Amino acid sequence: MHPLLYPPGSVVLLLGNEAIARGAIEAGLGFAAAYPGTPSTEIVESLAGVAEHYGFHVEWSVNEKVAFESAYAASLCGVRSLTAMKHVGLNVAADALMSSAYTGVEAGFLIVSAEDPDMWSSQNEQDNRYYGLHAYIPVFEAYSPWEAKELVKYAFNFSEKFKHPVIFRSTTRVSHSSGPVKFDAVPSVKSSGRFVKDPSRFTLVPAHARKLRVKLIEKWRSICEEVNYSPFNKYIDNGSRKLIICCGTGYGYLMDCLKILGVEGKVNVLKISTSVPAPRRLIMDALGRCDEALVVEELEPILERDVKVMAFEEGVKCRIHGKDFIPLIGELNIDKLIHGIAKFMDVPVPSNFLNPLKLSIEIPARPPTLCAGCPHRASFLELKWALAKSGVRDVVYAGDIGCYSLGVDEPFRVQDIMLEMGGGIGSANGLAHVSNQFVVAIMGDSTFYHACIPALINSVYNKSPMLIMVLDNRITAMTGHQPHPGSGFTATGAKTEEVKIEDIARGVGVRYVDTIDPFNVKDSIEKLMKAIKFVLENRAVALVNSRRACTLMVVSNARRKGVSVPRYAVDVDLCRACGICYNQLSCPAITPMPDKKASIDPLLCFGCSVCMQICPFNAIKPLETPSKDWEEVWRVD
Ligand code: SF4
Ligand code: SF4
Repeated sequence: MHPLLYPPGSVVLLLGNEAIARGAIEAGLGFAAAYPGTPSTEIVESLAGVAEHYGFHVEWSVNEKVAFESAYAASLCGVRSLTAMKHVGLNVAADALMSSAYTGVEAGFLIVSAEDPDMWSSQNEQDNRYYGLHAYIPVFEAYSPWEAKELVKYAFNFSEKFKHPVIFRSTTRVSHSSGPVKFDAVPSVKSSGRFVKDPSRFTLVPAHARKLRVKLIEKWRSICEEVNYSPFNKYIDNGSRKLIICCGTGYGYLMDCLKILGVEGKVNVLKISTSVPAPRRLIMDALGRCDEALVVEELEPILERDVKVMAFEEGVKCRIHGKDFIPLIGELNIDKLIHGIAKFMDVPVPSNFLNPLKLSIEIPARPPTLCAGCPHRASFLELKWALAKSGVRDVVYAGDIGCYSLGVDEPFRVQDIMLEMGGGIGSANGLAHVSNQFVVAIMGDSTFYHACIPALINSVYNKSPMLIMVLDNRITAMTGHQPHPGSGFTATGAKTEEVKIEDIARGVGVRYVDTIDPFNVKDSIEKLMKAIKFVLENRAVALVNSRRACTLMVVSNARRKGVSVPRYAVDVDLCRACGICYNQLSCPAITPMPDKKASIDPLLCFGCSVCMQICPFNAIKPLETPSKDWEEVWRVD
């Protein structure tokens, strides 16, 4: 059974993201829209799995901005709505975010921002509480899956009470840890409503916006007062002259550290879940009873600065610490936190934290790599060979964010610039106009729909000579196979129109558009060479869509259908140890033997056949002839 379908009263082990989803369901969610991004993806993915059962609308939107706008507009119709995205996704939606504070909303509207301290799968570790301060939108944060579910419900009510958006901030440790969550009743779902026209509120022309700004500041004052009464903010008075103020994951780690250090009950603790705006009266009450305070928070010293300003403004004589004791960079954990807490509490750090156990074995480095049989690997190889055969040596690759980011490493080196999602064609545009180098922009299919189309139009309009290569594996692969407008089905699995990349390119005026199958090496190289020739001769844009479904998706489909995956093997008598298969294609299933001849691990081989096609000595062969069924499964597109 889907974990979100258990009846009220059940205690279910949920991932933090599932708990957020359950909280939204228990709050009467009627509409959810998101773009996938780690660590937020499972929120809307789990909602999609139960949308039909509960009767709300769920969609994967083309990007975070569209998701935000969709959920915002649904809220204006009186439908409780949620949008979810990874932290950098909020940058994409920031324009709408800033303005939504001016108009406010009608039904509860929750913006889930899942952040990634330590950058496990992101390009930065921005702290989106700044967005709350910047936009005058409250930011709430939980420390556990259980609290996340409850806080989401509170946030929906809060949003509806003030007719104002609320940001729910999660981080990797909350989103991706599991914990027991008790289910409450699900109210009847309101998934349709009506937009009541009010141009003075919902159309932000300057005359309206000026008045709305005044109202926003008034509303913010009420919100600042209300957070003092949040049941999720908790003060624990232990009669100490020391105080620790914490928020988000900091609370859970803090309680563990106090226990380990044997100082539980020897310090006052103020746990804050409404970190923006900080609950001033609660903080001042607690500060007034101590001589020294420490603020524990993950990433930026946002609460710390607030507390210092408040203490200064109110003339409270209390020494306040924060990032002088607690790390500014990366995720918090007990190992990192315990040193700062011990210093603040003036107690020694236990020896096992001073000298952590060191392994005496050396673990070999395992750099991230594209999967065996990944079509991107074949595309990269074909692109490089086509450029070389065309005599183009001086190339700059403007890359993008997705699985293909792994092309940054040897042997491909096809990501020279990688700034943000959708940034490839825009960067290529600048390069194309000022540099004599041949410019290639590389992006995935989901990224193409997400943010590349305006840049594509720009490159046509401004006559920017470049080769655009889309790596179309038919799905948003990096976040776990969520569909996109080119997949032909929706978040709930319903069939829908397929929006073709080639059609978009032709529609916006790209004169050279072609499609290749990266598993047909010879044909792909020939077509790429023609595209390169077009760019050189016409000083214009050429787009080549390299279309093959993600190997992992294909192999899992094959297994489900009972279709066997063909394996390939090296005939050692024919192999001349040239190294092309393991050095230039670098499939992880192929390794060099001590005599430099190649060997294929049959457990890793996914039967793409590319190594066979590139071996100049015909030394690689399938162990069995690939079946018709296998050809069919590979053709899933
Ligand atoms: S490409 Fe062929 S000949 Fe060269 S190492 Fe690989 S299997 Fe051997
Ligand atoms: S066929 Fe060759 S390139 Fe493809 S997965 Fe198997 S070993 Fe790797």
